[in-house]
Amino acid sequence: MTNYAVPPAAETLIPVMGSNALFPVRRIYCVGRNYAEHAREMGSDPNREPPFFFSKPRDAAVPGGGSIPFPPATDNLQHEVELVVAIGLGGLDIPETQALAHVYGYATGIDFTRRDLQMIAREKCHPWEPGKGMDHGAPISAIVPASHGAPSVDAAIWLKVNNAPRQAARLNQMTWNVAEIIHRLSHFFELAPGDLIFTGTPGGVSTVRRGDMITCGIDDLPQLHVSLI
Ligand code: MN
Repeated sequence: MTNYAVPPAAETLIPVMGSNALFPVRRIYCVGRNYAEHAREMGSDPNREPPFFFSKPRDAAVPGGGSIPFPPATDNLQHEVELVVAIGLGGLDIPETQALAHVYGYATGIDFTRRDLQMIAREKCHPWEPGKGMDHGAPISAIVPASHGAPSVDAAIWLKVNNAPRQAARLNQMTWNVAEIIHRLSHFFELAPGDLIFTGTPGGVSTVRRGDMITCGIDDLPQLHVSLI
């Protein structure tokens, strides 16, 4: 038996639809500004600045959503609904034409953002961790295996706060599609089974508060419900 110096961290395990299998999370990558409307609402020109990558800690994932503690140190927590890609087959420099064969499945996720801290970091050219990497910052639905079918290219992606519509778009409005994202990301990092990729949010991000109930979804994928407590 391993003699751990301190208790080892728990695994982060995401349920898989239609099976009792669990998806073990290795890393969480995220795409920034992958929808033109969101790039514009963040004060960027989508024609001049391409999307980019950042990451969140593995244990920021909250499988199945539910009640999530409102994070500390922010006066401007915002929701970002996103298609999440779960990687089943790793690789470095994965060609775009083969990229979809590396996908295990798809899910609906929220990239929670402490927007006030992110904007301070942006101004100072500091890292984004305080704005993006907080505990419980990446709730995610169960994963639908790609073998059951991928969401259609024009699937609706939407989010409501207390039943009021806030975000509504279609997946084909992404600047980089899923295959392009995998191709580009795998140029910088060797992808491995268990990696999650949050593929960016459409426009309409807004501030949420303690007590708010958030529901979001993507056609053909499970809905995700989050209550901020
Ligand atoms: Mn995001």
